[in-house]
Amino acid sequence: MSATCRIVAMRLPDIGDPSELGTRLAKHTATCLRCQAEAARYRSLRRHLAELSTVTYPAPQGFVSSVMGRLTDPVIEVARHTRQTVRSRVVAVAAASAAVVATAGTVALILRRLQAPV
Ligand SMILES: [Zn+2]
Repeated sequence: MSATCRIVAMRLPDIGDPSELGTRLAKHTATCLRCQAEAARYRSLRRHLAELSTVTYPAPQGFVSSVMGRLTDPVIEVARHTRQTVRSRVVAVAAASAAVVATAGTVALILRRLQAPV
């Protein structure tokens, strides 16, 4: 395989016809059996892929109901997420409040003991 054949082989998947290769590579392809065979394989592949675009297969029994059963309503999901977020924030605020009250109580107790007459 020559360097030109390798270049043609790299470019063929991206183009529809060897004439799109440019003058030098198209001229090479016109005289090279290897590149012509490669171009023919891609033409055949494209033709088969085009035929597949019209083929449809029925869904297996129960597939549609299974997929639909797993779908969730976006409005319900947003509401659920919002409830979870609010619940988490309420718990965080309650924990912070309890920590502040405990700290204030401890400080008040220490100050009372420091100011207590002996
Ligand atoms: Zn070639």
